[in-house]
Amino acid sequence: MTRVLAVTSEIFPLIKTGGLADVTGALPNALAAHDVKATTLVPGYPAVLANLANATSALEIPDLFGGPARVLAGHNDTLNLFALDAPHLYQRPGNPYTGPDGADWPDNARRFAALASIAAWIARGAIAAYQPALVHGHDWQAGLTMAYLRYGGPAPPSVFTVHNLAFQGQFPAGVMPLLGLPDGAFALEGIAHHGQVSYLKAGLQLADRITTVSPNYAQEIQIDANGMGFDGLLRHRGAVLSGIVNGIDDAVWNPRTDSHIAATYTAKTPARRAMNKAALQARFGLTQDAKVPLFGVVSRLSWQKGLDLLLANLPALLGFDAQLVLLGSGEAALETGFMAAQATHPGRIGCVVGYDEPVAHQIQAGSDFILVPSRFEPCGLTQLYAQRYGAVPLVSSVGGLVDTVEDGITGLSFSPVSVEALADALNRAAALFRKPRQLAAIRRAGMAHDVSWREPAAEYAGLYRDLLSSHKA
Ligand code: ADP
Repeated sequence: MTRVLAVTSEIFPLIKTGGLADVTGALPNALAAHDVKATTLVPGYPAVLANLANATSALEIPDLFGGPARVLAGHNDTLNLFALDAPHLYQRPGNPYTGPDGADWPDNARRFAALASIAAWIARGAIAAYQPALVHGHDWQAGLTMAYLRYGGPAPPSVFTVHNLAFQGQFPAGVMPLLGLPDGAFALEGIAHHGQVSYLKAGLQLADRITTVSPNYAQEIQIDANGMGFDGLLRHRGAVLSGIVNGIDDAVWNPRTDSHIAATYTAKTPARRAMNKAALQARFGLTQDAKVPLFGVVSRLSWQKGLDLLLANLPALLGFDAQLVLLGSGEAALETGFMAAQATHPGRIGCVVGYDEPVAHQIQAGSDFILVPSRFEPCGLTQLYAQRYGAVPLVSSVGGLVDTVEDGITGLSFSPVSVEALADALNRAAALFRKPRQLAAIRRAGMAHDVSWREPAAEYAGLYRDLLSSHKA
């Protein structure tokens, strides 16, 4: 059995702001089939501590970045967890990264340095009877782990997975003294990035292996236009960079058993799926009509997701008698834009601004099409849920969307990411909707597409094995 210490700031079902949590929450279970036992270190946010069963204190730290802390070992149904209980850092309401005013917590540098330094401690055997063979960090919040491993003496090897290069954990150089790293770490070959400290860079520069969440995104980010300032570094480290596409947790996302939806169904019971469309129309106050195409969106509302292009296309969408439901939160301009559209076109457009897990499931089960017009997309999960739920994903041809949606086979895709190309794609979707046999074929192909963790977990397990054997050599 291989012990892996995973490090992340989010893990479903305990704490989630996006796809990262879905991945870190599902991967450990899928890895178990490959004789890998993952234990995940997460910050002790209130939601995490409240849901940790039978926790015991595994490590006491009298002063961790300004206050006492301890590591609680516990579990939930499927996950083995270490929660870093440090009230001065994590015992706060709301979002893990931002305060009630929407601005980043002012001490984020300290909060995620603490997580990383404890990860490195545990990696080096600080908890008796727990010695991981390797450390797997996720995204910038775990990035500094690689620096504490590198600059602190012998340590197990490491994997760093970047789920989104846009989130870089950048802080002023003035935080250096706080971190307890040697001054030499603030260098081009270390954690310095354009005069600042970048926690993402620490991961990308110092991990033994880098992965990202789809093969196509792994290629894209080595190009200037998509590298967000890191393409040079990623080209330089190209030999240890690979892409492994995300899977979905098919226990959580399964239309046959889903307790959030009006009627459970399978590919063989499309009439039961139709009940979910009716329920969704009712939930969003739309006209009850099985014969109009219903487009759905479940998304963070940010520039990345390209939903301004959808807003610009609403007249076209309404022109061909379609309906739209949207669940999302984020940028104020997009929130107000879609709310205004709902107010102008009640019965045709329905929005829920906010975060709502059950409604996300209901949209997947009831929509005919799921729109993902992203400008960039490391992997994307909503198009995978769509396939599993028999909604046709309509996606831009970027990043992991290219790896997971085959145009005309398991979904529809368009390029370039522009208002005009999206308009064409919406037209294609509306035309497809009028050809029930073709539509049903795409639905069935999507539902038959294996979007589970089986294959990706095998790839992670293979990567771990390679890393461990080259580390020994
Ligand atoms: P990202 O991680 O960039 O936000 P992904 O497609 O990888 O995008 O993952 C998004 C995840 O977050 C999916 O599980 C999706 O259902 C969920 N999600 C996004 N916005 C909301 C929301 N407003 N309410 C509920 N779930 C949401």
